[in-house]
Amino acid sequence: MKYISTRGNAPAKTFTEILLGGLAPDGGLYLPEQYPQVTRAELDAWRKLSYADLAYAVLSKFATDIPAADLKAIVAKTYTAEVYSNGRADSDASQITPLRTLEPGVHILELSNGPTLAFKDMAMQLLGNLFEYALAKQHAELNILGATSGDTGSAAEYAMRGKRGIRVFMLSPNGKMSSFQRAQMYSLQDPNIFNIAITGMFDDAQDMVKAVSNDHAFKAKYKIGTVNSINWARVSAQVVYYFKGYFAATQSNDEQVAFAVPSGNFGNICAGHIARMMGLPIGQLILATNENDVLDEFFRTGVYRPRDTGHTYETSSPSMDISKASNFERFVFDLVGRDGAKVREFWSKVDKGGAFDNAGFSIRDTDYWHALPKFDFASGKSTHQDRLKTIRELWEEYGVMVDTHTADGIKVGLEQRRPGLPLICLETALPAKFAETIREALGREPERPKALEGIEKLPQRCEVMDADVTKLKAYISANVPK
Ligand SMILES: *Cc1c(COP(=O)(O)O)cnc(C)c1O
Repeated sequence: MKYISTRGNAPAKTFTEILLGGLAPDGGLYLPEQYPQVTRAELDAWRKLSYADLAYAVLSKFATDIPAADLKAIVAKTYTAEVYSNGRADSDASQITPLRTLEPGVHILELSNGPTLAFKDMAMQLLGNLFEYALAKQHAELNILGATSGDTGSAAEYAMRGKRGIRVFMLSPNGKMSSFQRAQMYSLQDPNIFNIAITGMFDDAQDMVKAVSNDHAFKAKYKIGTVNSINWARVSAQVVYYFKGYFAATQSNDEQVAFAVPSGNFGNICAGHIARMMGLPIGQLILATNENDVLDEFFRTGVYRPRDTGHTYETSSPSMDISKASNFERFVFDLVGRDGAKVREFWSKVDKGGAFDNAGFSIRDTDYWHALPKFDFASGKSTHQDRLKTIRELWEEYGVMVDTHTADGIKVGLEQRRPGLPLICLETALPAKFAETIREALGREPERPKALEGIEKLPQRCEVMDADVTKLKAYISANVPK
């Protein structure tokens, strides 16, 4: 299996070759040359598999250059009940992603029982083990540099902690995260994890990361890499739980289902699109946005109009506060019949940015608009008031507490699903991470998983630093052995 760029101008590469990199050299994103197909006989056999065995079955179709025994070992080490037992007390951790049925035909797929209580652990934990494996083979090292306002950074740190050949330098805005988020990250004592609290905002931290990455000599010398959401291995790991959720919610492979997905960078739902392209009987993929509704606008009107940060709202589902959906390009590549030149043309308009109203493109007057329904997406948005209402209704009707992002997905899923299709709502985080909104909705504290009780009292370790690129470079160079 080789991987090609959505912009059509880069040499094809293997899974391992693209594992540690980011964008393709032509600025595009990697996708399989062709989606591997799952036969009916395979689907029947997969229905009975454990999560780890299912992950192996799916991933072996993508990571064809990793020897079978090695991939099996990596997957077995990643998807254990122990790693995924940090979430709800009454969840069956042996399922890794247990399905919670609210009423016949309405389910929540629990993806948030990993170490940081968010679905990003599902892919990031695999990435940590894949990185360690690939680096050991190449006798190489990697220094991951990133900026976080909470979720992604902690998932990356918990995935990379203690891994040989890997260091993580994670910038966060000093004093801007919740005490829980701070405790989650700064309490890690592993010597390969470096938390750097920047005196400034998230954007300042992000700018510092960009400045270091643009210094190509420094980047090469210190083997700087990232773990952003366009990483193909992350997307492929997410394909697995669509299969798992489908099997858990159905009796036979003749049935179809709908998935509702709280979306930001289009990574999660892109994995659903790929699962369907492989042959998983998904009827509808329902995309939910918050007030930042760039993607909902596209699916309703055919216009993709990414926003600049000045037009990105801060909401109570903050992990979906995006201005540009980085993985969306993967879907558009399929929509335009895998025509790299067309993607280049569209993204030349997106990358121009420029005036808010002029950036972006429209497929409204093209054949692609007519091709869109065959991909069977539905979309909708959810606001702060909708979120509060959904959280309250689920608590009152089912005694189930959901976080703000999952609430967005459930609201839009119930609204958009076709009658008769079982609905599987993806749970992207646990309510413990968003206590303030839970208090506003329910007048009570969110349930805190046992494993994380008292986490704020643990000793914390972090370096406070001015928003100064020279200082950051000096810090990295002092902490990377020559
Ligand atoms: C990252 C994240 C999302 C958005 O997922 P995408 O893959 O970026 O679409 C939604 N909810 C939570 C809690 C997240 O952390």
